[in-house]
Order: sequence, then structure tokens, then C-alpha cells
Amino acid sequence: MERVIEGGYDIIGYPRLVRLNPNIPWKTRGNGAISLCVGRGKGRKVIIGGKGKEKFYGFLEGKGDAEISFLMKIVSETIEEMAFEGANTNPGFVICKRKPPPSIYWKGVRGILTFEEIKNLLDELGALYGTYGNGRGIIGATASVSWRPRDRTYEIITYRYKKRWGTKRFVDDETTIAMDKECKSTFDNYDYDNRVNRIVPNSPCPVLYGIRGEKPEELIMAKEIVRSEPYLGWMIFETNQGTDDHLQRKKIKEIKPFESVIVRGTVAEEPYTIPGGHVFFKLSDSTGSITCAAFEPTKRFRNIVRGLKGGDVVEVYGGVHEMPFTINLEKLRILKLKDVLIKLENPICKLCGKHMKSAGKGKGYKCMKCGSKADESEARFKKMDRKLREGFYEVPVCARRHLSKPLKRATKTVFN
Ligand SMILES: [Zn+2]
Repeated sequence: MERVIEGGYDIIGYPRLVRLNPNIPWKTRGNGAISLCVGRGKGRKVIIGGKGKEKFYGFLEGKGDAEISFLMKIVSETIEEMAFEGANTNPGFVICKRKPPPSIYWKGVRGILTFEEIKNLLDELGALYGTYGNGRGIIGATASVSWRPRDRTYEIITYRYKKRWGTKRFVDDETTIAMDKECKSTFDNYDYDNRVNRIVPNSPCPVLYGIRGEKPEELIMAKEIVRSEPYLGWMIFETNQGTDDHLQRKKIKEIKPFESVIVRGTVAEEPYTIPGGHVFFKLSDSTGSITCAAFEPTKRFRNIVRGLKGGDVVEVYGGVHEMPFTINLEKLRILKLKDVLIKLENPICKLCGKHMKSAGKGKGYKCMKCGSKADESEARFKKMDRKLREGFYEVPVCARRHLSKPLKRATKTVFN
């Protein structure tokens, strides 16, 4: 971006960080791709980044008519210079005057795009592209350019000085918590249950921290609250993170591996826990059944899952794993808890006043003295205290996927 601006062009809008299908086995870590619109800006501009005293701006309007050969040169030079540092990676870039159709984005975030179909599309559009390694990077790059936000969030990212790359990051937990409380439109900052500072990445990448939220202006304020090691610069991205764009509503029979789905059904079997702490249960609808999983890293969320009983009506949200074929839960909505009855005592014989005995499973009761009979329903029962409530539950912040919409912002979306 710096090099584009140095070259005399403007950035139109915010740079975009687009996350794609999180279930692709051959993806890079976060399956993210960055895109930006380059051209000649006009009218109002917003601040999109900074480096020392220097500020970067994005124009809200403009024409994306930069000279393609110039962009080709700086993009390829930048990738060759920076993308391969100690990383086994297959980057790619795409430069196009016309945006590919939005269907490419939706397929990239929900399904599988092939290298061949992307290559053909780019050739048809007359786009320029460059591939490295296996070339799959152009798939994400094209999907990123194709994105027309239906819903959007923002992330402010700070970048470390190069001499610090790979060393332990200093980002203060206390001021991260203070920021989380102060900046209401931010989300997924801190996991209070598990004491995890979630704005700090786990990988040894050049990112110091990233704060996600609804409002770019508030993110700049949030960054000022967090105390950390000094950083080289910062940038605000428009993103599809926290939008649930990856999810599609499906019947069980229609579910395919690598998708992310919303499925409504009935709990068919009581949940069970296996060694390692992973919890499973079987979900059924009119078309079939599938196993749902809450893995150990989802921590306290598993207690909700363990509380389910056969007959509960739920809606599950999650990614579909191929082998074994399971839905890995991101969110759970309990629609209707089944009344579970616990038997307190057998019926009492009206003639003898004694407790009757079971006449066999499902065969009611019988008095051992006089032979009188009673139905199953004549025993005394009480309703089990389910300890769960109907409503939405989500995995903790520390286990949340980039694309998952936190319940905190769920009410803001028009769709679903
Ligand atoms: Zn009797």
C-alpha cells in the first residue's frame, strides 16, 4: 500500500481482509486474502493507517484506473521480497479492471473453487495474475476481489518491527481488558473464562495484534488504550470476519464435507464424552442423521452440549469435517427442551395399598398380591430440572473462528 501511494496513486476505500472457507484442508492458516482498490481518489477521505507521523488515507470515491503494468511491477516485487520469509507458502496475486462476479466470493467462502475455474475466469476477464509455488494463491486473491459486503466488520492491525519478528510479543492484558470494556463495538478481544488475550496472534508472524469491531473510528481509539511494545505501523481493514458468511442452511442429507452449515434437528442420542474431553451427539432431521462434535478446546461450551437430552430440538452451526463425518460446533441454538420425567415410585395397588412391580419393559405394572394391573403412566414422576435454557450458545472467544459471528453482534444483521 505504501508503495502504491509512493507511486502517485490513491487507495479507494479501505483495504479488505477477506477470510475464505475455513474447512479447506490445504488452506494456509487463516485462509485470508487481502485486496485493495487503487486509482485516483476524489472527495472525502478517511484515515486507514499510519506509520510514525505519516498517515494513510482511503478515498470514499474514485476511479480504479491505475496503470496495470505499474501495479504488476510493485505487487510482484513486494511478494518476491517479503512473502517467502521462512514460510512454506503459495501466494498469488490478481489485478483486474472489472470485478469478478460475487458468486466467486460465495463459492470461495462456502465451498471449493478450483485453480482451473479461476484461471479460466481471469483469462475471460482479461485480468493479470501471478502465481508462486502451486499457484493456489490466485484462488483466494480472486475471491477477495469478488467480495461485495452483505455484512462487514473492521480490524485494526499493528505491525511489529522486523527485528522483533519471532520473539515473544509484549501486549498488556490489563489494558486489553480495559479497551474491551471501553470500546463497545469491538469483539473477541479477551476470553475472560480462559484468560486468553485474543487480540495477539499465536503464529510468529509480523502482526503485533489485531482488534476487531464494527466502527473504524472506535478501533483507532481502542489501539490507543492497549499498552504494548512499540510498533512499526498500523492499518485498518474492512473484513468479512464475524459475519457468518460461511454458513448455509441445510437438511442433513444435503450436507457435504468442507461446508459450514446451519441445521435444525432433534437430538437423537444422549451426548457422550470420549477420553481427551471431546463431546459428541447425534442429530436427526426428516432426511437423516449426523454426529455433532464439541472438541476439548471449546472448554465450557461442552457443558451446554453435555446437558442435551434425546428429543431436544436444536439448531447447530458449524463446519463439516470429512473423516469422521461430523459437524464441528461453533454455535448452538436450543429451540425446545424436552420435558424429561424421572420416575419417583411405582404405582400403589388400590386394593392392597402396596407398591406394584414392573411387568416388564413397556408392559406396565402388576400387583404381586392380587394381580391388579396399572399403566406405565400411573407411576409417580417428577420433571427433571434441565438446568439449560432455550436460546443461543457459542464457543468461547479463545476457540472462535474468524468468520463466526459473535452473539454480541448477532442482532445487527439483516440476514439469517
Ligand atoms: Zn393388589
